[in-house]
Amino acid sequence: MDRLIKGYGEFKKRADLRLYEKLGKGQFPHTFVISCSDSRIVPEKIFSAEAGDLFVLRNVGNLAGLDDPCFLSALEYALLHLEVDNILVLSHSECGAVKALSEREHIDTEGLEKWFAHETYDGNSMDEAVRNNGIRQYNRILQHALVSRTMKDRELKVELLFFDISTLRLERFCGDKWEEIK
Ligand SMILES: [Zn+2]
Repeated sequence: MDRLIKGYGEFKKRADLRLYEKLGKGQFPHTFVISCSDSRIVPEKIFSAEAGDLFVLRNVGNLAGLDDPCFLSALEYALLHLEVDNILVLSHSECGAVKALSEREHIDTEGLEKWFAHETYDGNSMDEAVRNNGIRQYNRILQHALVSRTMKDRELKVELLFFDISTLRLERFCGDKWEEIK
């Protein structure tokens, strides 16, 4: 706890008070991000975003489960109330969730069993499986009725990115291939 309190002190010293005063009246994030809970993946840092820019849902494995009330409520809120311009699935290298799927016999607790009920390890390597996990979530989002309806009504982009932790390389999924973002 001491580390957190010390961190808060530093945050308070550096915080842009005018920005927070404005944010106190409401939020207008441009992007809904579905990211992994992994401590190494911090969307705000990766995209140099300020408080108020990103509406973020973090969970184990950046899953967009269509029977997950947590994901669904965040999606509905992001589209219907916040009217975000983008939905982004942010997948990453060395994802512990995808690794767990490769050793299914180790998924032996109630929470993990439920969480991974609709997920499989799909790939010939960790790298491929992580990317395929991202594609699976991305496709689920695209198939969601509210998403397709919103895309017909107004400008809304659905994107999938892959972040490599050790090299900081960022790649964008372009339908059939991945392209590095420079
Ligand atoms: Zn992960």
